[in-house]
Amino acid sequence: MEVKGLIQGYKRFREYRLGDHEELFLDLARKGQSPKTLFIGCSDSRVVPNLITDAAPGDLFIFRDIGNFVPPFQPDDDYHAAAAAIEYAVSVLQVRDIIVCGHSHCGACESLYKELPEDESLIHTRRWLQLGQKAKEAALQKVGSGDRELLLRTTEKISVLFQLENLLTYPEVRRKVEAQELFLHGWYLKIESGQLLYFDESEGEFLPLEG
Ligand SMILES: [Zn+2]
Repeated sequence: MEVKGLIQGYKRFREYRLGDHEELFLDLARKGQSPKTLFIGCSDSRVVPNLITDAAPGDLFIFRDIGNFVPPFQPDDDYHAAAAAIEYAVSVLQVRDIIVCGHSHCGACESLYKELPEDESLIHTRRWLQLGQKAKEAALQKVGSGDRELLLRTTEKISVLFQLENLLTYPEVRRKVEAQELFLHGWYLKIESGQLLYFDESEGEFLPLEG
């Protein structure tokens, strides 16, 4: 959708939808936000956190990036958007839950198996995608390369687990998880059906999320 279409959508929002939320927006402006959940998802346009969870404004603190990757704790002089969002959610907003949500047909996971141009046009992307490297290696080891679809779906799911592992490299996240003040969840959205799966630790696999 181009900007013209978005502006038309905004008009429809003002006319038909804003009324449903008016009180809520006023209340949130007065009291500030206090979301209980940090949702880390892929920037993919098909992943719409509020839509799939039917969450209202104020419910989710959302961070989205390519591949729903979580870089490990690595404080230095660079600018770390993901780390800052995690810190703010955990230390200031004091969220109770963090969801890392992967999804099917993820372009980031697929590009782990492609050669990207070596020029400057994707210089940051090439570096960023290294955060999926462990998932690629683990998926290849688990299912081999014979069935490409299975390999990609497996990579997407395993990647969620590695990102959860990276979350635990943040000292404050680890401390709160150990104190059972913070809970981590691995989710997986099937784009084609809108179905959500969750990682069940006791089963060691992704299972349908029952409402
Ligand atoms: Zn994606």
